[in-house]
Amino acid sequence: LRKTSVQDLLRSTDLDREVLVRGWVRTRRGNKYVQFIALNDGSTIHTIQVVADAEIFPEENLKEVTTGSCLAVRGKLVASQGKGQAVEIQASEIEVLGTTNPEEYPLQKRGSDQKGISLEALREIAHLRPRTNTFGAVLRIRHAMAFAIHKYFNDNGYFYVHTPIITGSDAEGAGQMFRVTTLPEQNPPLDEAGQVDYKQDFFGKATNLTVSGQLEGELAAMALGKIYTFGPTFRAENSNTARHLAEFWMIEPEVAFNDLHDNMDLAEDFLRSLVRYALEHCADDLQFLNDQYDKELLNRLKFVVDNEFQRLTYTEAVEILKSAKQKFEFPVDWGTDLQSEHERYLVEKHFKKPVILTNYPKEIKAFYMKLDDDGRTVRAMDVLFPGIGEIIGGSQREEDLQKLVTRMREMHVPEEDLWWYLDTRRYGTAPHAGFGLGFERLILFVTGMSNIRDVIPFPRFPKSAEF
Ligand code: ATP
Ligand code: MG
Ligand code: MG
Ligand code: MG
Repeated sequence: LRKTSVQDLLRSTDLDREVLVRGWVRTRRGNKYVQFIALNDGSTIHTIQVVADAEIFPEENLKEVTTGSCLAVRGKLVASQGKGQAVEIQASEIEVLGTTNPEEYPLQKRGSDQKGISLEALREIAHLRPRTNTFGAVLRIRHAMAFAIHKYFNDNGYFYVHTPIITGSDAEGAGQMFRVTTLPEQNPPLDEAGQVDYKQDFFGKATNLTVSGQLEGELAAMALGKIYTFGPTFRAENSNTARHLAEFWMIEPEVAFNDLHDNMDLAEDFLRSLVRYALEHCADDLQFLNDQYDKELLNRLKFVVDNEFQRLTYTEAVEILKSAKQKFEFPVDWGTDLQSEHERYLVEKHFKKPVILTNYPKEIKAFYMKLDDDGRTVRAMDVLFPGIGEIIGGSQREEDLQKLVTRMREMHVPEEDLWWYLDTRRYGTAPHAGFGLGFERLILFVTGMSNIRDVIPFPRFPKSAEF
């Protein structure tokens, strides 16, 4: 007997044949003549209906068929008489592979209103969340987006480069690194001031978990031309917001000979392609999330695919924000970094479309960004999305060795630690540009979920679960 997924069975036109399907029970209902079991195996948001006639399966023999239990069902795939599904399985054999005690099962709907468990409560049982419709949908979409990202770059001639997780560099210069240490707890080596000498962390060198693969990605772009990285990144920020995690995934393309405008074109084409891919390949899951949580989700996704992003400079944005009627918690003045309330105002209230902001003051951006001719701003770009704020941060990089070194000194970035990075400018330097897309922020946008902790299987944040 061929093993088939629920997804395959639901699409099947080859009826009246024997099938075997295995999965987890969503619900069982019925009467003394017939019982209906909704079975899901994770391949789709939908369930297949298993029809168990009382002649073969007296109700008392189905006691163990409860929500969450695991079954293997043999039977005939037939056209369904009922509404809501084209096919169903007329069961001939039901084997319970794993039981679930309804009194204990954390995902059991309870009470007279049979209300499901809230997203907040589900975070406490992250190990069981994938069994719910919502997380099944989110995880399938997350998978599809990861695949679409590799496909986009592969189709466009980019090479996937793996950058180190354990590294000595702080790419952002923001000091948000998790230290990695091999130092013994007892009698660690001390520095001149008598403090633990963390410069010796990794067998004699200072190390941390990577905050970004960019610097190493630049080295690769200066050799392979068009590259991207896609890996986990870590930031030891007190990430108690709905947009920050301590461990998140980042996609970072880096392209030799690209300038800021090419970089914007790439970011926009990339994001619109990914959203289009989701609409084409995740239709059922998106429809479910749209109906369940956010009736505007599909419209918002289609809007992004069909409309160009608004592009303007930071300076222009500050003028708009200063003359806005809305009162902001943090006042805006030229030179201050924008907060998510400002970003969302521009996107959601003012332009009502995604926005790319460019040419930020050099003081609020990283050392590697190319200085503009005015000497005050850099060729930075942030892509801002509705409901999210910043989804991409990127820039054209400073390719001139002397200017880069000057910037590093201004910003107190130690040159001696980055001698290898400076070598790219020393030998055959070239203009280049790139950006970082936060994978979870992309998934937030595509799924319409409102908390970043709900779009990654095991979120890491201060006080996150222990597993
Ligand atoms: P933010 O201003 O939101 O803190 P950032 O400017 O510090 O972001 P970048 O260093 O520009 O972030 O990183 C590139 C991208 O990585 C961001 O645009 C965002 O999509 C994502 N990102 C940054 N920090 C986090 C985080 N803590 N959790 C999840 N995604 C993040
Ligand atoms: Mg940040
Ligand atoms: Mg930012
Ligand atoms: Mg940024």
